[in-house]
Amino acid sequence: MPLIENIIRPDVRALSAYHVPDSAGFVKLDAMENPYTLPEPLRAELGRRLADVAMNRYPVPSYAALKTKICDKLGVPAGFDVVLGNGSDELISIISIACAKPGAKVLAPMPGFVMYAMSARFAGLEFVGVPLKPDFSLDKEAMLAAIAQHKPVVTYLAYPNNPTGNLFNADDMVEIIRAVGDTGIVVIDEAYQPFAQSSFMPRLSEFSNIVVMRTVSKLGLAGIRLGYMAADAALLAEFDKVRPPYNVNVLTQAAAEFVLDHADVLDAQAENLRAERAKLATALQALPGIEVFPSAANFLLIRLAAGKNNADSVFSALLDRKVLIKNVGKMHPLLENCLRVTVSTPEENQLFLDALKASLAS
Ligand code: PMP
Repeated sequence: MPLIENIIRPDVRALSAYHVPDSAGFVKLDAMENPYTLPEPLRAELGRRLADVAMNRYPVPSYAALKTKICDKLGVPAGFDVVLGNGSDELISIISIACAKPGAKVLAPMPGFVMYAMSARFAGLEFVGVPLKPDFSLDKEAMLAAIAQHKPVVTYLAYPNNPTGNLFNADDMVEIIRAVGDTGIVVIDEAYQPFAQSSFMPRLSEFSNIVVMRTVSKLGLAGIRLGYMAADAALLAEFDKVRPPYNVNVLTQAAAEFVLDHADVLDAQAENLRAERAKLATALQALPGIEVFPSAANFLLIRLAAGKNNADSVFSALLDRKVLIKNVGKMHPLLENCLRVTVSTPEENQLFLDALKASLAS
């Protein structure tokens, strides 16, 4: 269509859209959602609060009350502020736009979260991926060499990493942060922090070039779309210039403020999921031909054997049994024959295990 050729960038035309499969009727274990909802009395109270929200007004763009609550309840150290995003996806986009100087580069270990590369490219930045080691640990030497060569303005380290689930060695990360120095920022993406309980947030004041990014998505609030990033105030002020002024809507704001007043409920759910993760990992390890990788997140990465029961055939056999997980086997050579499954309730984990056993047998 000439109009599209005339106006749309060739690199955008060549892309395929971020694919979200239709999950209606499936046991949905593909997107690292928390399977638990709020207890009924809290849901009823939340409904009353939302009914009172002034939807005819724009949000107040300082989001002061919500930011204070996030800082108090979610472990942002005193003296640090946050910028809020419509999910951390938007924060990644804000960072990319703000740092997109001509010729600038973004770097991340691979395999990693796809939006780092996508968002960089949308903003006209070059993306450099540095392979992890085969055990998915950081290849520190390769990272340091790539940093020296490319001088990235942004380096992403997901802690824990998606889709591998592991925590990188913190000392290696510190060396990387120091090597980047004041030529770039290191974004430590702690989307899965509630399941890892390890964090760079308390270490914010040790480094002037780190941004610690989190989200409420994996905590049980994926639907409201809210992420936040903490960093040096002067740096945040620059990012804030790029943020669309009303990016967090009033319903999200009210829902997040309400739920954060009951943060103990979310903490208990995360604790539950950590225990379920251990049980699911043990059950998977007992199955023939399956390798389970260590996870500090609310998902497990498993590797299937090559041959009849490879990742593609097991993935589609699970789909036939109405269980949706994520086939990451083609995402990166290091992930060959790998599948990623979200840890869920005991009932859903059992449904997955039963379907997996039946798929391996068929
Ligand atoms: N970072 C990582 C490492 C993720 O895995 C995800 C979600 N898959 C995100 C960020 C995006 O989270 P959000 O829902 O806040 O946009």
